[in-house]
Amino acid sequence: MNDCCATKNMPEQGRKLACPGCGRAGLPVSEKTLLHHLKQPWLWQGGQGYFGCEAVDCELNYFSADGTVIRTDALRSKPGLKSRQADAPICYCFGLSRADAADPDARAFVIKQTRLGNCACEARHPYGRCCLKDFPKPP
Ligand SMILES: [Zn+2]
Repeated sequence: MNDCCATKNMPEQGRKLACPGCGRAGLPVSEKTLLHHLKQPWLWQGGQGYFGCEAVDCELNYFSADGTVIRTDALRSKPGLKSRQADAPICYCFGLSRADAADPDARAFVIKQTRLGNCACEARHPYGRCCLKDFPKPP
């Protein structure tokens, strides 16, 4: 599946950094993405060089190479990837839960809208990437 968007703006593409909370590799996240997810972005120092931790059992959500960490509870809402619940949000552009995303019609709708460029993953997805990557695999 092709990436829909955002990747052209991704900083430090291809780089990974181990999360200081859980040790798993995190991918780079843009400043724009953080600004759209932090509860009080005006209090944040800002900056590039942030990575996202998607591990379900890790309470850190973003971290930077200089040791700054941002916990999941500093976000406006808990990322769906940090939850195993069926009602956790998976597509942030069109409001699908994990259960919704298992519906082939809903999935087809998102693929179509993505191809049309109607998604907003860089801003709405907590890690700034295409929501379709997080969809449950079709049966
Ligand atoms: Zn982590």
